[in-house]
Amino acid sequence: MATTHNLGFPRIGKKRELKFALEKYWRKETSKDSLQLTALGLRQQNWQHQADLDFVPVGDFSFYDQVLDTSFMLGNIPSRVSQLEGDDLDNYFRVARGRSSNDESSCCCVSAGEMTKWFDTNYHYIVPEFEQDTSFTLDASQLLAQLQEAKQQGITAKPVVIGPVTYLWLGKLKTESANEEDKLALLDDLLKAYSQLLNFLHQAGVDWVQFDEPILVTELSQAWQHVFRKAYFQLTNSPVNILLATYFGELQENLQLACKLPVAGLHLDAINARNEIEKVIDWLPTHKVLSLGVINGRNIWKTHLNKTLDWLEPIHLRLQDRLWLAPSCSLLHVPVDVQSEEKLDPDIKSWLAFALQKIDELQVLAQALNEGRDSVAKVLAENASTLLSREQSKRAHNKAVKARVSLLDNGLEKRQSPYSQRAKLQDKKFNLPLYPTTTIGSFPQTKAIRQIRSDYKNQKMTEKHYRQNMEREIKTCVAEQEALGLDVFVHGEPERNDMVEYFGEQLEGYAFTQFGWVQSYGSRCVKPPIIFGDISRPKAMTVEWIKYAQTLTDNPMKGMLTGPVTILNWSFVRDDQPRSETCLQLAFAIRDEVLDLEKAGIHIIQIDEAALREGLPLRKSQWQSYLDWAIQAFRITANGVADDTQIHTHMCYSEFNDIIAAIADMDADVITIETSRSDMELLDVFDEFQYPNEIGPGVYDIHSPNIPSVDSMVSLMKKASLRIPAKRLWVNPDCGLKTRTWDEVRPALVNMVEASKLLSARA
Ligand code: GLN
Ligand code: ZN
Repeated sequence: MATTHNLGFPRIGKKRELKFALEKYWRKETSKDSLQLTALGLRQQNWQHQADLDFVPVGDFSFYDQVLDTSFMLGNIPSRVSQLEGDDLDNYFRVARGRSSNDESSCCCVSAGEMTKWFDTNYHYIVPEFEQDTSFTLDASQLLAQLQEAKQQGITAKPVVIGPVTYLWLGKLKTESANEEDKLALLDDLLKAYSQLLNFLHQAGVDWVQFDEPILVTELSQAWQHVFRKAYFQLTNSPVNILLATYFGELQENLQLACKLPVAGLHLDAINARNEIEKVIDWLPTHKVLSLGVINGRNIWKTHLNKTLDWLEPIHLRLQDRLWLAPSCSLLHVPVDVQSEEKLDPDIKSWLAFALQKIDELQVLAQALNEGRDSVAKVLAENASTLLSREQSKRAHNKAVKARVSLLDNGLEKRQSPYSQRAKLQDKKFNLPLYPTTTIGSFPQTKAIRQIRSDYKNQKMTEKHYRQNMEREIKTCVAEQEALGLDVFVHGEPERNDMVEYFGEQLEGYAFTQFGWVQSYGSRCVKPPIIFGDISRPKAMTVEWIKYAQTLTDNPMKGMLTGPVTILNWSFVRDDQPRSETCLQLAFAIRDEVLDLEKAGIHIIQIDEAALREGLPLRKSQWQSYLDWAIQAFRITANGVADDTQIHTHMCYSEFNDIIAAIADMDADVITIETSRSDMELLDVFDEFQYPNEIGPGVYDIHSPNIPSVDSMVSLMKKASLRIPAKRLWVNPDCGLKTRTWDEVRPALVNMVEASKLLSARA
């Protein structure tokens, strides 16, 4: 008999109930008790949905983040909150977000813990903090209480916990001058806490516990491989069975290590590590359980059940009771229920499976294995016919798009002349001063702007009226820029709700959900659009707005587009072709937009690649192949223009050290980046690499309401000019201004323009 289980369930709720409960609580509009009650309700609901599984995850629920929960469970609570008033939950929120409620007086505001991305997902966790003398004191009361709740509900619980090695690896040592060895020195004490936890779980009647060790899919140093052995040998005598879970990728050189660890079972991501499963079956000692993650926990497509069974049946024959089935990873990364969608096209909806549907698929697979396919014949037939309809759908497949992409030739990627020649032509054409000023695209998105968009969307405003309103906003924005004396203008992006959604909505091959929310961090959720088919652009998307904006001024108006890699990385993508292929299709669509802008007389065009870095694979050894196709996609998008058309790109992060060659390869004439917080040090890498083109290092930190002084910006730019010749420098903010108010933006830009004037007069 194959056993079914799940690694984790979305905690946020079908309608984001947890988000709203948390935010209400932080605003002090509800009590702690009522927040706890909502949480209990959600847990009970989630367990109910999974009740038919052989093991149901407990401990996957969290008020903010499961890594932070683990820190609290281990008594690893930053000392800065230890003296503060209130209880554990207050302190928990203080570490999570700096305060336990929005109006918390200054006495209890502390700096929040650092937040970073959970592997290659868009989920962010709170980084554990270690001191050299950190010791761990287990407090498993929360987890034990939840186990009790589950028991009362008649659920067979399998607690899920971040494994000790991954926990240690994710954390950061705060002690100055401390190094990796100091971190490893914490292991023994940490293991004591884990061992104690296992004993408590045993006393609570737990049979199996899941330890998540996803770092096994990354490149591990010898030292960390050793830590794995040491840790799990120390936990060998655990009174409960440990299921060691890895996901998001292949184990590769860690495969043997993982197979040999003295645990009772191993979970592998059979979507991303399918090729390794055979080997694991050969190597795994026969007393161990093998859990296969056969349902993709990272995307929203229905599983091909028959195909999966074709693959699984022989494995089941070999492993028998040792085979467990699960989603590939926690379902935290997908929305809850596709049935909630009321507006999705019925065809597309029929191709999708969110968390609840994935649990159903799991049950069907297990039943087919345990009782034969006949016992679920109807469901399998339905699944097959739905997927066939997807395969053959005219909406998903567009011959012309496929043909165009397949005819790819290198010429498409290349500018006519190298940068040095283009620069001369562009200098002549735009005749910009030294230290030219510009902004990154958006201007403040006022309430009025949002109202206009929402009225238009809800059909409360005619198209004509909408246009008039938007044109008025653009006009205001241009007038402001005239008054400020900026050099290169933007139209301000009032028509855009989001830099990906705006383009997705106008491209063929994209679908949007109403409730497809996925937790990003804490109470923040995102609703990634879905690329379901070949991408094409029925008509120009931005040209009318930019052209109109250009009629209002003699200064150059910068066309504003989102690049193919960013669109790809912020969407749910197809599973029936490689990401690189989808990216190419996007590249061709945006290329057409670039060329249309150029034809319309727009000769400075910015292509934002805010999320280029985010797509980097978990293993460094795979970076280059990602960068190859990602940069190629950008080049196809950008490089069809004439020499005297100036291409800008923008990236809102500051780590370029390891990808600088790829960035240079994009060959954008100008790149604007985030630098204001790093004191221009990040330009070192551009300097050392001898980055040849122009750079606008952000001098105005738009994430803060503070207004930067002229001096501060002059001094930042002077530092920049020590690294990059002044002739190739631009002056601009860090990122778009849409989240700021005009009252903040105006004085900041007045200062920025003043700084540029001072600099150019002296340069
Ligand atoms: N052009 C976009 C804007 O200004 C860029 C946003 C971003 O980089 N995230 O809003
Ligand atoms: Zn940005």
